[in-house]
Amino acid sequence: MQELRGKLIADRLKGECLDFVGKYNGILPALAILRVGNKEADLSYERGIKKRFVDCGLEAKDYELPENCTNEEFQEVFDFINNDPEIHGILVMRPLPKQIDEDEMLRKMNPLKDVDGITATNLAGVMRGDKDAFAPCTAQAVVEILKDYKIELAGKRACIIGRSLVVGKPLAMLLLKEDVTVTVCHSKTENIKAVAGEADIVIAAIGKAKKISSGYIREDATVIDVGINVDEQGNLCGDCDWDQIVLKAGAATPVPGGVGTVTTAVLAKHLVDAARLQMKLPEVDDDKDRYVE
Ligand code: NAP
Repeated sequence: MQELRGKLIADRLKGECLDFVGKYNGILPALAILRVGNKEADLSYERGIKKRFVDCGLEAKDYELPENCTNEEFQEVFDFINNDPEIHGILVMRPLPKQIDEDEMLRKMNPLKDVDGITATNLAGVMRGDKDAFAPCTAQAVVEILKDYKIELAGKRACIIGRSLVVGKPLAMLLLKEDVTVTVCHSKTENIKAVAGEADIVIAAIGKAKKISSGYIREDATVIDVGINVDEQGNLCGDCDWDQIVLKAGAATPVPGGVGTVTTAVLAKHLVDAARLQMKLPEVDDDKDRYVE
């Protein structure tokens, strides 16, 4: 079985960011990370982003508010970063506390700064297949992995398990654009094993530790594990049971070291694209070679 490690793809995306920063050395693309409260999951994601951005020659600035801040206080900080020309991208840690009006924020967000792909404008762009629309980073990371590893897509069948707005739904649109025949399963789908068992590519994005066993995949299928969970022993694990999947799949992404590794690199590349689009600059290199095994 081929292990589809994310590092090679993350390195390619890092190279594209460094090319941009090298070419336009007067421009420092900057991301604003807006966080309410101190949830450990948010802090750990933020640390990962900052480390990646240092490597990519990009800036990430923190904007932190207390968990009990008012909606007005939140919107004031948001308006500031949304209008600041020195900030090219915005990442809002979600879910937000219930007193914050997320819809108000989404309506105001400049789509050109929406590097996380959460606005209606970018989601509609993903549905239309617009080249410059920002897709949610994790969904985009899955496509980057499949394409870099030259997994055949056109005409193939994919089964996505999970239909969230950040992973399953946008990923279905991105794969349709690659001419994949897509089925999306969810918690009410009957007999997922039979549906997934017919797919060439199975993508697990359900948030249930090791739920997807070898019984869900056909021999030699490609398996992409989006899940990030903690197992009973306290170890990081995916939605797939790796010990079983390795014995049956043709190729699979590990957890950690798979999709998650690519997600922050996609965010970095989106920030560079956001800066480029805001300054109406041409792409640095359209024909960057994808990784070939
Ligand atoms: P989510 O919003 O909770 O959505 C989970 C989806 O899975 C829902 O559509 C749900 O169905 C479906 N589902 C849950 N249990 C199921 C089951 N037993 N059988 C079939 N479908 C089931 O989660 P998410 O935000 O998409 O995240 C999914 C996983 O990806 C999590 O482990 C998360 O930590 C991980 N994640 C990873 C990254 C990364 O960078 N690698 C980024 C984001 C998320 P219903 O719609 O019917 O409820």
